[in-house]
This record gives sequence, structure tokens and C-alpha cells, in this order.
Amino acid sequence: MDLIPRARWGARAWREPSGSIRYAGPRKGVKVHYLGTPYSSRPHAQCAAYVRQLQASHMDGNGWSDIGYSLLVCEHGSVFEGRGLQRRNSANGNTSLNEQHYAVCALHGTNGTPGDALLRGLRDAIDHCRTRGPAGSEIKGHRDGHPTACPGDALYAWVRADAPRPGGSPSPPTEQPKEGRPMDRYYEKSKPLTLKPNVWTTVTWDRFHVQGTGWTEKKAEQTLLKGAHAFVLGVGFRVGGLERGDEVQVRIARNHRKAGEDWKRAKSWPIGSPVHAGGRGHFVHTWPGMLPGSDDNRLVVDLLNVTDRDLTVDELVASLLAWPA
Ligand SMILES: [Zn+2]
Ligand SMILES: [Zn+2]
Repeated sequence: MDLIPRARWGARAWREPSGSIRYAGPRKGVKVHYLGTPYSSRPHAQCAAYVRQLQASHMDGNGWSDIGYSLLVCEHGSVFEGRGLQRRNSANGNTSLNEQHYAVCALHGTNGTPGDALLRGLRDAIDHCRTRGPAGSEIKGHRDGHPTACPGDALYAWVRADAPRPGGSPSPPTEQPKEGRPMDRYYEKSKPLTLKPNVWTTVTWDRFHVQGTGWTEKKAEQTLLKGAHAFVLGVGFRVGGLERGDEVQVRIARNHRKAGEDWKRAKSWPIGSPVHAGGRGHFVHTWPGMLPGSDDNRLVVDLLNVTDRDLTVDELVASLLAWPA
């Protein structure tokens, strides 16, 4: 699959809407869309500009927080990351429909016939949603459950045939870990976290995602990584109820345990608080580092609320790449 992340097609930053569009709950599957207007074939070098134009019309014309689709596929078979897999789309008709299915849009119009490269790319996008979302096995059209002609009769017939890969070849196992590839994990905390003033709170994670296996509910646990590894850890979280001048800190820390004793803080890498606006703060930071030793060392994330009242963290994610060292 040729997946083109937002940064590579030059996406604008998305706006925070009044209600969170972050939604990583279970999806039943994927809904396929088309553009609904005539579309003229163009060289692949112009596809990114077209996706940017679509994003601009959704944000500036429709007033949406971002491009409406989860993923978009061009006629050359490349898959452009729209809202991606961790956020609710706004293309399926209403909030409930948007949460039930990912929205994958073909850069295909009311004219012409969908070609093999486009269908192959759409199938790649569907498989990507299933393995990385994850999503269930439903493949539907926008018109299922919503009054619209989308995705057009040709694509809808393909959808109804369960979206066969042109040539009949099986789905390529693009998401299988390869030799020498790092461990690739994504963690979330599903419930809000209350930060008491002036104590470091260690985050407990309860959902995680391992490359290629989909989301798994897991027993709540603080440890992100154990033993000797080189790592790159990114942490993002959102705090509500902030006032101007408030401070929140985040650090990652290595806890060490001697045989028979409790974990002790061995080393920490703190950063200060970035700016915030509108009572909500978004904090994102990435640390490269080394975790030494064996299973007696573990990596955790701590948050500190430097105000005189409780604060609530309503989103917390961590993404980790790690190589044995
Ligand atoms: Zn549609
Ligand atoms: Zn293209």
C-alpha cells in the first residue's frame, strides 16, 4: 500500500471543534464515497494539490474542522491520510453513522469508469482500516443508510461485490512486522484522569495497539516498555479547565526495581508546559532515549498539575517505537 501521511500531502492542521472528534471506538467497517461531481484525470504529481483543495473546501466552505474523510484514494492507487483512523470522520451523514464506519473517498467523479489502480488502492485502504483501526468486515456505500447517490453506481456495484481486489490477488500483508523493524505500539487511556495539585501522577494505560494486530483492551498498566531498548516515545494529552498562566508538566521516567523492593524513580526527563488557549491545553512531546538494563527497568509517563485545583485530562495517547539494545 502506498500510504501518504498528512505531512506528505501538505495537510493544514485541523481545528478543534466544540465536541471532540477524537473517536477510536469500534467501527463496523468502511463506507466508500466518491466526489459526486465530474472529475478529470490528472498526473499523480497533482493529486496532493487536489486533496489540499478538498480539505480547504471542507474547512473554509463547509466550516468543518478538517477534511471530512478518514482516507482518500487517487486514481493511481495511493492512499492519502485524511482524518486517519483515530478520529471520527464527518462524511457519512450524521455523528452516529460517522462513528460506525470509516469513510474512504475515491478521487473519482460522476464521469468515467473506476480503474484497476483506484480499486486496488480502495481495497488497500479498506484492509488498512481493518488491520490498523481496527474495523469490522462491513463494506458499504455512503448511500447505505443515507439518501445520496454516493458512491455512484459503478463503485457501489463493486462495494456490493465485497470490493474484490482487481486481478483477484490476495491482499498483500503490508502490515506484517519485518526483521529489523522496531516494536511499534500505540497506547491510550480510555477514561479521564484527574490530576491533583502538585503531585506527579503516573499515567495508567488501558488500551493498546500493536502493529498489525488491532486494538486490544488491556489490563490497566503503567509500564510502556521494559528492559534494554533504544526508543522514541511520543506522548499527547489534553487538559480541560485551564486558566491563563496555569502550568502543567509532563515527563517520562525510568523506574528501577531491586529484587524484592518497590519501584523507585531512577531518572526522569521533564519538560515544561507549552501554551494553551480557550481553557484547554494540548500537549505533545516526543522523547528519544535509551532504557538500560533488563526487566528491572521500566518506562512510565508522569504528569504534574502546578495549579491549586484539580484538573482533568480527557485524552491521553502514547506512541512508542523501540529497538532492542
Ligand atoms: Zn459520500
Ligand atoms: Zn494520484
